[in-house]
Amino acid sequence: MRLFVFSDVHANLEALEAVFAAADGLYDRCICLGDVVGYGANPNETTEYVRARADVVVRGNHDRACSVLDGIENFTPMAAESARWTHEQLTEESRRWLAELPRGPLISFGLEIAHGSPIDEDEYVVSRTQAQASLAAIEDSVCMIGHTHLQGGFINCNTLQPLLASQWTLSPQNTNGPSHEVVTLDRKCKYLVNPGSVGQPRDGDWRAAFLIYDEDSREIAFHRVPYALEATQEKIRAAGLPERLATRLSHGR
Ligand code: ZN
Repeated sequence: MRLFVFSDVHANLEALEAVFAAADGLYDRCICLGDVVGYGANPNETTEYVRARADVVVRGNHDRACSVLDGIENFTPMAAESARWTHEQLTEESRRWLAELPRGPLISFGLEIAHGSPIDEDEYVVSRTQAQASLAAIEDSVCMIGHTHLQGGFINCNTLQPLLASQWTLSPQNTNGPSHEVVTLDRKCKYLVNPGSVGQPRDGDWRAAFLIYDEDSREIAFHRVPYALEATQEKIRAAGLPERLATRLSHGR
C-alpha cells in the first residue's frame, strides 16, 4: 500500500491542487493530518477538495478553532483574526464537517497518525525531548504528525536524530522546481515523520510539501512542489486578511 500523506493546507487552494497533481498515480490511499483551513483565503474550497479526496482526515487545531471558535484564545492575534474571518466564510456544511473531524491519534491503514503529537493534538514537536516522549508513546515504529509545518521529523536508533540531514536549516532551496528526497525506514528504529505543510511551509522552502510512504518497501519520498504563489497571495490581500499572511508564503516562514 502506498500512502499519500499531507498536512496543514491552511485554505491554500493553489498549493493543494499542486500537491494532488504531483501525487497523481503515486498512491493508493490518501491521509490528511489536519488544518485544512485557517490563514488562507479559500477555506470552503479546500474543505470540499479534501473532503472529496482524502480517505482519512484527523482534525487540526485550526479546523477546531475555525469551525467552533474553540482554542482561539491561545492563538496569536493574526491567527485569531484569520480564524474569525474563516468562521464567517465557512458554509454550514463545511463548518459541520470540520467540527466533526476525529481527534488524533488514530490508526489508519496500519499507520499511527496525529495532528500535533500522539500525546497532545496541540503539541508542536520541535525538540528532541518532545520527540523522545512522542516516540515512547507510540505503539508501532512509525507515527506521522503535522502541525509544525516543518518537513522531516525524527529517527530513534539508539540515539535520536533529525530524519533529514538538511531539515529546518532555513537556507533557501537551490531549485524552484519540484524535488524529492527518499528515506528508507529501518525496522529496528522508531520514526516520527512530518510531511511538512501544503499551504504554509515554515522550513524556509516556499514550495508545497507532502510525502508518499510505500508500506511494502518502507520508503518515504519527501516531496516539494511549486504552486501559483502569487495567485494565493492576491486572494489573501483581496480578502482583507493580514498582509503578513501573504508575504510569509514567499519565504516559507
Ligand atoms: Zn497548521
